[in-house]
Amino acid sequence: MWNLRNIPIRRKLSLLIVTISTVSLLLASIAFITSDRISIQQTITDNLRTMANIIAANSTAALLFSDPVAAQETLEFLKTQQHIQTAAIFSMNEREFARYIKPGLKLELPSAKLKNENALFWGDYVELYTHITYQGEQIGVVYLRSDIDLIHDRLTRLLGIIALVFAVSLLVSFILSAQLQRIITDPLLRLSAIARQVRTEKNYSVRVIGKGNDELGNLITDFNTMLDEIQIRDNELEEHRLKLEERVARRTRELEDANMQLEISKQQAESVANRMEYHAHHDALTGLPNRVLLHDRICSELAHARRQQTNAALLFLDLDRFKIINDSLGHAVGDQLLRVIAHRLNDCVREEDTVARLGGDEFMVLLPRISGSADAGRIAKKIIDCLVDPISCNGHELHITTSIGISIFPYDGSDAETLIKHADISMYRAKELGRNKAVYYTAEMNAGSRKQLAMETNLRKAIEKNQLTLFYQPKFDISSNIIVGFEALLRWKHPTMGFIDPLDFMPVAEDSGLIVPIGEWVLHTAFRQLKEWHNAGFTGLTIAVNLSSAQLSRPGFEEVVERALQDSDLDASMTELEITENVAIKNIDITMAVLERLKFTGVSIAMDDFGTGYSSLSYLRRLPVDTVKIDKSFVHEIPDSTEDVTIAQAIIAMAQSLKLSLIVEGIENVRQLNFFRQLGVTIVQGYLFSKPVEAAEALKMLESQSLPRTINLVK
Ligand code: C2E
Ligand code: MG
Ligand code: MG
Repeated sequence: MWNLRNIPIRRKLSLLIVTISTVSLLLASIAFITSDRISIQQTITDNLRTMANIIAANSTAALLFSDPVAAQETLEFLKTQQHIQTAAIFSMNEREFARYIKPGLKLELPSAKLKNENALFWGDYVELYTHITYQGEQIGVVYLRSDIDLIHDRLTRLLGIIALVFAVSLLVSFILSAQLQRIITDPLLRLSAIARQVRTEKNYSVRVIGKGNDELGNLITDFNTMLDEIQIRDNELEEHRLKLEERVARRTRELEDANMQLEISKQQAESVANRMEYHAHHDALTGLPNRVLLHDRICSELAHARRQQTNAALLFLDLDRFKIINDSLGHAVGDQLLRVIAHRLNDCVREEDTVARLGGDEFMVLLPRISGSADAGRIAKKIIDCLVDPISCNGHELHITTSIGISIFPYDGSDAETLIKHADISMYRAKELGRNKAVYYTAEMNAGSRKQLAMETNLRKAIEKNQLTLFYQPKFDISSNIIVGFEALLRWKHPTMGFIDPLDFMPVAEDSGLIVPIGEWVLHTAFRQLKEWHNAGFTGLTIAVNLSSAQLSRPGFEEVVERALQDSDLDASMTELEITENVAIKNIDITMAVLERLKFTGVSIAMDDFGTGYSSLSYLRRLPVDTVKIDKSFVHEIPDSTEDVTIAQAIIAMAQSLKLSLIVEGIENVRQLNFFRQLGVTIVQGYLFSKPVEAAEALKMLESQSLPRTINLVK
């Protein structure tokens, strides 16, 4: 099917113009030909009628007188009329009166039947009937037949003219359509071309050329205006796009930076986490596994040993006299020593064994999959031997030994806790047996622990039954030879076992918390006792009371002290509280706060057993201490041990430089006394003067002041 829509406009226009002009020309031609034919027919009819009238007029007489010759003569003039083919005159009795037939033609005349006046046009001729009248009465009929060549000639001519006109009009319409095309289609084509260019190139700066106030002109203007707006929008869009791209690029850069930061943070967090993980499971000083990791390993090795039915061993190591080295030579040396020892221990054991540091000078070795207890003993011996060689630290040649306790799975315990506990107990046994030894755990040792439990029960009863009592050991001023004070020392007066030393029951009292009520009782009793001595006239005396860590860490302890002071109505300046180094540093911040508050009550603070703990100088500086008591363990071998001499000298020098009072405890002989005297020590304590005695004995001592005076102090 011919689809008009697909035809280009220029064709459509041409088609339209040609069709219109053709149709209108055709219509005009038909109308013209028709009207021309009617008029020419009329002319022919009029001609024929005139001719017939002449014939009728001329033949009237012939009819009246029945003269056919005259009538025939009338028709003779028709010979000059070329178009007349035939003619006849009929009388009223329908008789042919005269006839004429154009020479050369063979034509039949119509029947003589009279017809009405009429002109009849047939294919290529015309017939006319006219009445012949005389005095108003019809007397005959004239018949004329003529060719209509005139009509045909004229039609042929007309058609020729029409064809010419048609051709001219086609030409005109073609030119017109071409003209119209220029006017209509060119702008449209330009529009279309620009629209295509805009679409393909996205170039909104192009414009359609063309003006005018007609629809096309308006269309071009609107189209260009639309392009203007699109271009503005496009520019804005481009601007937005550029800004957006810039923002996206910026954001991308920021995101990349953030990602990088995140990655760095992640790596840092991971490394921190790894470090934390490492620190959580390793000892910071030696890098050895710590208690936590060791515990894990013991548990997994025990599970393995249980499945495989093998043995495992735990060696509990505690270095002998390490504290002395640490305190005398300083922490740096102590730390270095610990690192060397950790290294040596690692070298002594197999790869599958674990050497862990539990803290301080305590180590533990886990020996999985050993064939028997003898194996553990062999390794323990190897460890002891590998420490024989002196260790040089900071220019010092140090000799260190260790005591080792051994527990074997499954004989000495089926779980980690029990095995550790039993190895610990046997280590203490090794210490008791003279150190530098390895001792296997035995059930009897555990009996010792059970003994401790029994002791706790008994201690509770002892408090209820007032079996606790205080002994007093004098402090002696060797410059004036008088007793300046006493140290209160606790005793348990057991009904069957006699006096039990605090060293035997104090750990139980501390572990069970019984030390708190006991400690309070000691404070009250000792202060009241001093008050009694004051009342007895020895007003210059002071009293020293020992404290444990459990007492110190208990909130409101200073109130307990204040109560004891009030209760005894004693001047706080006459009292002194002794804390050991280990107690002090157990929780240094709490200790410091408590001591500050205690100082506020007016009591003095003494650092007891100085040199045996970990603290030494740095702690001493931080704590509000008034007095330092050199531990008896340093005094024991003085002046024979050069090491002890050095330590004692160092402590005295340090106390002097810090302007602290100094007491030397454990003076048992005159050599020791003289040594310290020469170093400027004035206050001493020891068996040389008196063992701790009961209050009554102490009073006697005061009254007589006999003891110090009877001794020949200077040899
Ligand atoms: P400490 O405070 O250092 O007391 C000195 C210890 O050395 C006393 O032992 C004393 O008897 C002993 N001693 C004194 N002079 C000499 C001597 O010349 N040679 C020898 N070898 N020893 C001497 P004790 O009474 O057995 O007390 C042991 C520790 O128990 C005390 O050491 C103290 O830390 C603690 N303690 C005693 N009583 C109490 C108390 O009431 N409360 C608290 N928390 N601890 C106490
Ligand atoms: Mg003491
Ligand atoms: Mg002491």
